[in-house]
Amino acid sequence: MAETVFSKIIRKEIPAEIVYEDEEVIAFKDIRPQAPVHVLVVPKEPIETIADATEAQAELLGKLLVRTAEVARQLGIAESGYRLVINHGRDAGQEVLHLHIHLLGGRPFGWPPG
Ligand code: AMP
Repeated sequence: MAETVFSKIIRKEIPAEIVYEDEEVIAFKDIRPQAPVHVLVVPKEPIETIADATEAQAELLGKLLVRTAEVARQLGIAESGYRLVINHGRDAGQEVLHLHIHLLGGRPFGWPPG
């Protein structure tokens, strides 16, 4: 897997506003926020896209979701609600090839997404 900006954030080689971190997961503020709260929740293990995740990584993916809900509570948006997004590939506009969940909150979101 190619080196990404997220690997550099995980290794603390470039700065990021980290809001949560444990041995397996890191969460930091998106540099181009699309909502009052916009955090990226990232497994430290480099998985390129959701389609690259293997059965052996199923437990890690579960933890990623549970920790995302924890971060949402910590940031005070659990009551009002939030949206989780995983972009995959060209049509979804995936930019960084290191799996991540966008956690967006602090405003209402339309459905279906545009
Ligand atoms: P995606 O399109 O799902 O791959 O989203 C990648 C996200 O990473 C975008 O929302 C970018 O604004 C965000 N991003 C890119 N570089 C950085 C960085 N150095 N720190 C924080 N967020 C970043």
